Amino acid sequence: MMADMSEVFFICNNSNRKEKKNGKGMRRKERKTPHTWTHPVLRVPMTEWTYKKRSRGKLQGRPASQIQYSNKKDSSPPPPPAIGSAAGETMAASPIDSAWESLIGNFSEFQLASVVTFFLHESVFFLSGVPSLLFERFGLFAKYKIQKKSNTPDYQNRCVLRLILYHVCVNLPVMILSYPAFKFMGLRSSLPLPHWTVVVSQIIFYFVLEDFIFYWGHRALHTKWLYKHVHSVHHEYATPFGLTSEYAHPAEILFLGFATIVGPALTGPHLFTLWLWMALRVLETVEAHSGYHFPWSPSNFLPLYGGSDFHDYHHRLLYTKSGNYASTFVYMDWLFGTDKGYRKIKAIEAEERKHL
Ligand SMILES: [Zn+2]
Ligand SMILES: [Zn+2]
Repeated sequence: MMADMSEVFFICNNSNRKEKKNGKGMRRKERKTPHTWTHPVLRVPMTEWTYKKRSRGKLQGRPASQIQYSNKKDSSPPPPPAIGSAAGETMAASPIDSAWESLIGNFSEFQLASVVTFFLHESVFFLSGVPSLLFERFGLFAKYKIQKKSNTPDYQNRCVLRLILYHVCVNLPVMILSYPAFKFMGLRSSLPLPHWTVVVSQIIFYFVLEDFIFYWGHRALHTKWLYKHVHSVHHEYATPFGLTSEYAHPAEILFLGFATIVGPALTGPHLFTLWLWMALRVLETVEAHSGYHFPWSPSNFLPLYGGSDFHDYHHRLLYTKSGNYASTFVYMDWLFGTDKGYRKIKAIEAEERKHL
């Protein structure tokens, strides 16, 4: 029995309790501040409610008398939290919290940061990229297609096969080998998860920083030698579709990876934030290469966001005349005057619409 009991062993900080007499002269215990508990495996501070939730699998079916706590002076189980209390507030984040707990319970941090990250990236990339390939192949949503030209099925298949080859032979080994570098940056995967305000502010910072680095790196890739030997691979598809976003020379894949991780390297990321950032960045670049500008495209709603129309222009012009070098936003090209050709075309199109 004692062996079973040890499963629910936890440390209770009892120092914040004091005894006080009530009106009838009886001693009663009054809590000055909420208990803090330490999870026996995860070693993280927990509220009473989250402790009970985490331990529910072990507690189910056992009478309360069989549950032994480490604190000898007070062996009563922790009381439920009051509605609206701090512990109650934890309830809102509990599904993500529980899912994360089971994830870190089933995989090592190395497996999560390398192989699981790889499969997560592949899932987000192919699931978001395949629709625009199918739209183009079957002539769907032709009204919203930016260019009149279409890629042949053979040309599309060639892109997909090379992508799988590059991802397995370049991306996966890089993800495995870079784990020590991520640890050095301060990567962590333990609970508690970062607060949503931290996650949102970090991801906005990552987008702005990545856009800045990508702009200057991309301009460098459009110089004669680098274009001929490296960046021309990405520009083989003058009529892009979602999956062409990652179709690039291995050297460029490494550069893109570098621009993506500078932000996380500076902030010391939680793996949860890193995954969310990676997913959003993939969705953004796939949309920018989709070749379709829909009424619901994010550039119609998000100020300063470039999107598909902005980047499609970059692909359909000669490498020396294209402009629109930034990855996500429009302000870098505006600030440095590399969007003049695009703005001129947009002004002409607006004028033509007026006379229709
Ligand atoms: Zn380019
Ligand atoms: Zn591109």
